[in-house]
Amino acid sequence: MITHNLGYPRIGSRRELKKACEQYWSGRMTAHELHQVAKSIRQENWQLQQKAGIDLLPCNDFSFYDHVLDTTLMVGAIPERYHALAAEQQLTETDLMFAMARGYQKNGYDITAMEMTKWFDTNYHYIVPEFTANQRFSFFSDKIIKEFNEAKRQGFSVKPVLLGPISFLLLGKKRGKDFHKLDLINNLLPVYLEVLKTLDNNGVHYIQFDEPCLSLDLGDKERSALVKVYDAIQKAFPYLHIILGGYFECYGNNLATVLSLPIQTIHIDLIRCPLQLDDILATGIAKKRINLSLGVVDGRNVWKNDFDESLKLINKAMDAVGSERVWIAPSCSLLHVPNDLELETDEQSLPLMVKDWMAFARQKIGEVVLLANLASESPSDEALHQFEQNRQSMNNRRISSFIHKQSVKERARSVAERDTYRDSVFQERKKKQNEALHLPLFPTTTIGSFPQTSEVRTWRSKWKKGELKIEEYDALLKEATKNSIEWQENIGIDVLVHGEFERNDMVEYFGEQLEGFVFTQHGWVQSYGSRCVKPPIIVGDVERKAPMTLDYTQYAQSLTVKPVKGMLTGPVTILQWSFVRNDQPRSETCLQIALAVRDEVADLEKAGIQIIQIDEPAIREGLPLRKENREAYLDWAIKAFKVSSSGVKDETQIHTHMCYAEFNDIIESIAKMDADVITIETSRSQMELLDAFAVFNYPNDIGPGVYDIHSPRVPSKEEMIQLMQKAMSVIPLQQLWVNPDCGLKTRNWDETKLALQEMVEAARYLRAL
Ligand code: GLN
Ligand code: ZN
Repeated sequence: MITHNLGYPRIGSRRELKKACEQYWSGRMTAHELHQVAKSIRQENWQLQQKAGIDLLPCNDFSFYDHVLDTTLMVGAIPERYHALAAEQQLTETDLMFAMARGYQKNGYDITAMEMTKWFDTNYHYIVPEFTANQRFSFFSDKIIKEFNEAKRQGFSVKPVLLGPISFLLLGKKRGKDFHKLDLINNLLPVYLEVLKTLDNNGVHYIQFDEPCLSLDLGDKERSALVKVYDAIQKAFPYLHIILGGYFECYGNNLATVLSLPIQTIHIDLIRCPLQLDDILATGIAKKRINLSLGVVDGRNVWKNDFDESLKLINKAMDAVGSERVWIAPSCSLLHVPNDLELETDEQSLPLMVKDWMAFARQKIGEVVLLANLASESPSDEALHQFEQNRQSMNNRRISSFIHKQSVKERARSVAERDTYRDSVFQERKKKQNEALHLPLFPTTTIGSFPQTSEVRTWRSKWKKGELKIEEYDALLKEATKNSIEWQENIGIDVLVHGEFERNDMVEYFGEQLEGFVFTQHGWVQSYGSRCVKPPIIVGDVERKAPMTLDYTQYAQSLTVKPVKGMLTGPVTILQWSFVRNDQPRSETCLQIALAVRDEVADLEKAGIQIIQIDEPAIREGLPLRKENREAYLDWAIKAFKVSSSGVKDETQIHTHMCYAEFNDIIESIAKMDADVITIETSRSQMELLDAFAVFNYPNDIGPGVYDIHSPRVPSKEEMIQLMQKAMSVIPLQQLWVNPDCGLKTRNWDETKLALQEMVEAARYLRAL
């Protein structure tokens, strides 16, 4: 039985790669030093996997920035706008790659970066390849060859990992004249063959082609392209062992195609899709010569493997096809989990008992090897001992009173239909809210946060280190809040915010105050490039012990007669941006969070807060990859939002905020959320995103963002008026609010002040028309 791994985290256990890249970009590290850091991360990763006992290690899973971008460079799909730059500045391959990822504003050049978007349903972002009609490809970057040879020289038994040509094309975007991306396969395939030829010359035996597009709803054109490509590869390299990596979903409708491909090993994500094993075994696979790579160790979450469960699957597969044809692996690349649990030593944030239920990349590698040992004819004593301990851990978790709270479970179970809608319909509520709030036409507001200056962050870190007393920290935050309120009043904003100075992050801040969450010190995962995130971990039943935002909101409201908007993160976003417990459905966990938010909303209302915003920027990214699963998700996600927001009287105005770029396919669900006001990101699309709302006749109020907060640029009043007039041409003006695209925490005060003054002027102008 072979054990293998699909990919290892590339940032280093102490985020060495992040630090090195950032130093290099700022000129404080040489290219040579940067490459040394990369080399030692690769070596360390291989050593550790080999030492753990993995038979076949991945190579080319390393990347300075992103593996899709690496593929773009491998096949020479370098967009036109970088050509002159690369030639004139004689950029190295690494510098060209960084220019494509980050843009280039130096030596008189101003070239934009390539687009970035989320990798399937993960929080990892890839750089989107750009293709033109008749796009040419050529074997440009030989990174994969270099890394293969590097591993070989160091004595490791590796298989290069490569993004498959079909997924690569499907992940790209078209530029210029319209065409079908798959038509480019004729140009692309020869380059892949050339890469394989070179690898072959260097002695490659195994290769892993990742085709995660197989987790999507594909059509006949895509499926026949797959067959064509892998047939051609097999013909050209009959002795090459091809491992096909599909993950994040079942193969679904693509299964028959996958099984017909001339490949040697097919990988199955048995975490996302445990039932698929039966489907595959039912196809008579036993008669074919194909190996099954069982992805039984969760590559997307932080929990320890349940050996009993995994062994059931492994044994079933072995009974059907024989042990020599069964491989064991994580469900997908371990890129999406933190590096090493052993670095977590702070029992305050991560109690020992909870740590015992968890496994990060390094531990997961150990699990793969142990499972293979346990499934073998004569498991070692040590393995059997570990198995006993694994059962203990699983059992402790099942019965732990730290995470199982009957009262919380019962409350979630008894949520009634009546808890999911407001007393009156929107039109009724709007009348009452108008009377209570006296807002002008085109009310102005912001999305919540004001600049998180380094000063504000220093206060927090001093407080955390014990250098500031809690009263001192609190006084500083209140001072900042007071200044922000005064300033908002002075420039004439209608609905004020307190500014979120007390928040490190919009999810972590709430997680830290809720029961059921734990935190890590080093649990970083790559989000994009050098940016890493450290998601909170939801381990148990979620319960609110005390008000979470009341103090600062009430304080802010006490300073002004204008309404101050309470500011909360919604249940779906809290869920989506955390590692979530896997011992109950996500929908249940989400509902528990919704109830906690509902209680906070009630407390804010009781304290006289008339407007409350519940941010849900992550609703869309939780959308399942397959269309057939979307309705069920939207049902529970929207219900959770409604549970959190419906417990207030008609006069209380509920806002929500979303900052993503595609509303068309979920507009119906957004309408069902029934927030009195929704603020959205629209400025970069020149209000085009409003069309979905217009076509749907969206009835409630909308604040289309009038300026892009991602850029330091200060927009003029005229630009914003023009955008609002565009909005008015599709949405009745009585429904419109005026606000920026998103929170202002990443901006500085000078920009913010100028931009918001212009924004208020724009609203005044519109009112006077
Ligand atoms: N209220 C949050 C803020 O203003 C919203 C952030 C977000 O949408 N991502 O920062
Ligand atoms: Zn936003």
